[in-house]
Amino acid sequence: MGSTSDVSFRMRSVRRENTTPEIKVRKALHRLGYRFRLHDKSLPGSPDIVLKKFKTVIFVHGCFWHRHPMCKYTTFPKTRIEFWSKKFDANIIRDNLNTGKLTNMGWNVLIIWECQTKDPSFLDQLLLTLRPIEKTSNG
Ligand SMILES: [Zn+2]
Repeated sequence: MGSTSDVSFRMRSVRRENTTPEIKVRKALHRLGYRFRLHDKSLPGSPDIVLKKFKTVIFVHGCFWHRHPMCKYTTFPKTRIEFWSKKFDANIIRDNLNTGKLTNMGWNVLIIWECQTKDPSFLDQLLLTLRPIEKTSNG
């Protein structure tokens, strides 16, 4: 007893989680009063943010890694071109696959790009387009 250190595991190796753009999106969601869960591993691609009530998942994508079309941050490395092409293609294919699976499961998939998180008012506008799923009456 008396030790101030608690038992915690720092998951440094999990590089995709808790990135700055993602934290910006979370803070905006909080501010707007949304309730959500994080990194649901039971869903395809383990979406960064899950808004169950809205039947919506949010992926916060880095422009570079996920190849945001026509974005100034989507640069292409000048060396090892083949290596990077393969890597980027694999990311895009995986993203599309996960989006397809989620859509088939009835989820609304929202992609928020890193560059969009740099503008708080744009981010708010984007998030305010979310609407709760209306219950359809069966029968
Ligand atoms: Zn971008």
